[in-house]
Amino acid sequence: MPASAPATPPPGAARTAAPTDLVVFGGTGDLAMRKLLPALLLCEKDGRLAPSTRIVAVSRDGIGDADYRGKAEAAVADNPSVLRAGAVPEPVLRRFLDRLHHVPLDLDEPGDGWERLESLLGQAPAQDGAERGRVYYLAVPPMLFGRICADLQAHGLAEGASRVVLEKPLGRDLRSAREINDAVGAVFSERRTFRIDHYLGKETVQNLLALRFANMFLEPVWNSRWIDNVQITAAETVGVGTRHGYYDRAGAMRDMVQNHLLQLLCLIAMEPPASFDREAVRDEKVKVLQSLAPLTGQDALRDTARGQYAPGTAGGRPVPGYTGEPGADGASSTETFVALEASVANWRWAGVPFYLRTGKRMARRYSEIVVQFRDVPHPIFPGQGAGGTPNRLVIRLQPEETIRLHMLAKEPGAGELRLRPAPLELSLSDRFAVRSPDAYERLLMDVMAGDPTLFMRRDEVETAWRWVDPIIDAWQGTDPEPYAPGGTGPQGAHDLLARTGRTWHEGDMT
Ligand code: NAP
Repeated sequence: MPASAPATPPPGAARTAAPTDLVVFGGTGDLAMRKLLPALLLCEKDGRLAPSTRIVAVSRDGIGDADYRGKAEAAVADNPSVLRAGAVPEPVLRRFLDRLHHVPLDLDEPGDGWERLESLLGQAPAQDGAERGRVYYLAVPPMLFGRICADLQAHGLAEGASRVVLEKPLGRDLRSAREINDAVGAVFSERRTFRIDHYLGKETVQNLLALRFANMFLEPVWNSRWIDNVQITAAETVGVGTRHGYYDRAGAMRDMVQNHLLQLLCLIAMEPPASFDREAVRDEKVKVLQSLAPLTGQDALRDTARGQYAPGTAGGRPVPGYTGEPGADGASSTETFVALEASVANWRWAGVPFYLRTGKRMARRYSEIVVQFRDVPHPIFPGQGAGGTPNRLVIRLQPEETIRLHMLAKEPGAGELRLRPAPLELSLSDRFAVRSPDAYERLLMDVMAGDPTLFMRRDEVETAWRWVDPIIDAWQGTDPEPYAPGGTGPQGAHDLLARTGRTWHEGDMT
């Protein structure tokens, strides 16, 4: 290799971000404390933050740097992702906490908050040799996005190559999403706007792209000739908890389906992109959304099931129903469960139902994608075919990240030939013996590196709303079906598949 050639990082090598000022609006909120700070600490532990990178939290709280560092230390101490990754050496923790600053700024009554932020950002620490980046992470309610961007511009803080990260949900329908996108777009160009969907940061989700597009054997069977149906489930055991104020305005459709589940559907259904280029991947995803057959009026009512958890028992203890939760409106008709059948109306997927399902207070917490293959055309073994083929690819996103290909194999023994389902399993942690980064670690590093491949483009978000809005409209005036906590959702979700003789795959056990 000539001496001047850039060194190629070894496979799997972690990316180190350029020195950055990461400004987190909503830096004292649940998302910042539970997800962002722990993820950034793990980036620190892996040596992926440049020495002069700073993390600047902004909130209404009047606290200074020292108190904020104390809050942050308490938040990361018992964070499950941090605990899973093993002990954080004391000097690493101290170095991380030293990066943190807090600027009190009430967006409604800013006082001198903007000037304090301006002044802090103006005092850039000694450089690490690379150009300094700036990222504004908006971990606040979406109705504040436009205002923050306008204020940043008014204070001369949106100049240069600074980027903005928008948390989901982006609006509550197509109209409000457009308004937010217009307001943000008036300040930050699309190239500088990163719309986050943390499902896309999960290792198995990225591995799904690798599995589909780096291997030859799947592509020939990845179509309606070989695949019977696709099921995407995101089940939670918890109820709405303390997030009632937000959730009651959103519901499961806006909170989960419009973003996470449709993004997963896109990755399963998309055509091979010409390259792993930021725009090529997103172009193919948006084509899937454009191909979704519209669900309106009676069709929407026929092809969806909508539920709300009732009071009952979960995990051996009594739990309130959704309308009995603290702070709840006793008459709310917000859904906590959605199941639906979607059709990707194109050559590859004609006739293949895509079943999406998400719910709170379900029996188990798991998210997975099941690609169910068709039966063999001519079974020759005793008992084969009874109960349908077990040939399915199961991509588990949580709690563990695994990929399993379920096959039939001969049961060992000299007696009668008997078939037993047996999975081929790819466990990334076992195979590569490296820690799987949390989704937010990956995405935060991508933002600092300016790589938007795993973020949603404006047209993706708006096309998803265009498909979702008529379904929500069709539900107006209807009540969600009650379902028992700790189960598999309302009967309507099972009926949705039973009408074609199918059943839900109720999750691989590990
Ligand atoms: P949260 O716990 O209610 O925190 C909101 C944050 O915004 C707080 O730091 C709050 O500051 C700040 N804030 C609110 N109004 C403000 C104002 N007028 N001026 C300055 N700061 C203000 O909310 P969250 O759960 O972190 O969610 C934040 C965003 O992320 C939301 O858009 C949510 O939908 C999205 N999100 C959250 C999660 C999650 O797991 N929590 C997951 C995905 C997406 P104060 O503390 O000073 O009030």
